[in-house]
Amino acid sequence: MAGGHDDAARHNDERGTATKVVHLGRDPQRFDGFVNTPVVRGSTVLSASYDDLVHHRGRYSYGRRGNPTTEGLETALKALEGSDGVALTPSGLSACSIALLSVLGAGDHLLMVDTAYRPTRTFCDQVLARMGVKTSYYDPLAGADIADFIRPDTRAIFLEAPGSQSFEMQDVPAIAAVAREREITTLIDNTWATPLFFRPHAFGVDISIQAGTKYIGGHADLNLGTISAVGAAWKKVIATHGTMGITISPDDAALGARGLRTLAVRLERHQRSGIEMAQWLQDRPEVSRVLHPALPSDPGHALWKRDFSGASGLFSLILKEVPERAVAAFFDALTLFGMGYSWGGYESLAIPFDCRDYRTATPWDVEGPAVRLHIGLEDVADLKADLDRAFAALRAAA
Ligand SMILES: *Cc1c(COP(=O)(O)O)cnc(C)c1O
Repeated sequence: MAGGHDDAARHNDERGTATKVVHLGRDPQRFDGFVNTPVVRGSTVLSASYDDLVHHRGRYSYGRRGNPTTEGLETALKALEGSDGVALTPSGLSACSIALLSVLGAGDHLLMVDTAYRPTRTFCDQVLARMGVKTSYYDPLAGADIADFIRPDTRAIFLEAPGSQSFEMQDVPAIAAVAREREITTLIDNTWATPLFFRPHAFGVDISIQAGTKYIGGHADLNLGTISAVGAAWKKVIATHGTMGITISPDDAALGARGLRTLAVRLERHQRSGIEMAQWLQDRPEVSRVLHPALPSDPGHALWKRDFSGASGLFSLILKEVPERAVAAFFDALTLFGMGYSWGGYESLAIPFDCRDYRTATPWDVEGPAVRLHIGLEDVADLKADLDRAFAALRAAA
């Protein structure tokens, strides 16, 4: 695992982000000049001598505990996050669950944002509840008022910004400051922004989680989770991750590293196309409003502008009221936008959603059907033409 204190230089790395994602966590000379770290398959690691064995002198000790392929990805992510270490998990959801298990125990209380990724909520309500951890949900707009929800047994606060599907922004530093004062651990699901557009640890958050499945992978061919942490939280994460036996395949680590090399250039394009599509959609007669924090009209825009350095390609829109058959006609007319959930790949996606299905602390009371879009790397003119056709089908069926 990429922990330790050997990297003071990396914390002060002044190079640009695109340069960093290309060069971090690679050492071609170590592998006979090959640009990419090899896929190292291995369970058994041999020691050169009895002395090395009993004094644990090897750089690696046991397949499950890491190899050059996983270590390279961990090292790169650790430097990007600016943390004390990064642990890899087999999916984004397992990154959320392992991180929560690392910092919570029987009798503890968790404050979970009401706009969290739904399966993370299910983990809290079903598994954590069985372990004796109580979860209560809070309004994403709480900010420093989070103090009002903190109980004597509150041990962790979980954030996700912008909110899953509905894109509310959170005042991350305000919540982190309140938590820090009370020695409560903060965790954030930072999948939407990635550490390229938002660096949670710089805003006081202890644990930063990503579904690497999304933008790190970037090609819809990988499930990966990353848990980055600082200080005491890192010690807890790596202990729980290790004792639970969590490990990922070297092939998946290599795919994650390959995705990382182009992350800056892909995100730049997702951002530009996403904002252009969001602006275009705002002016469509079929659309009531667009939920995208980079739009100046968005209620979360000021927080986004203050804390984030970019926006990715995922946002939502609320259609004007139409019958369900018109919504169905809209989706069935799409040819470039695929109907699928796991976003962050090179392709555009569209799904319907309804937050009333799961929210408990805040109302979701919108004027029409809600649609989430992922803007991929296609030409924007073609994406507009695809939505144009879909809107024509919607109007014809309304
Ligand atoms: C997709 C997603 C996850 C889960 O990632 P998987 O690899 O699919 O388990 C977690 N959080 C957010 C915000 C996501 O979008």
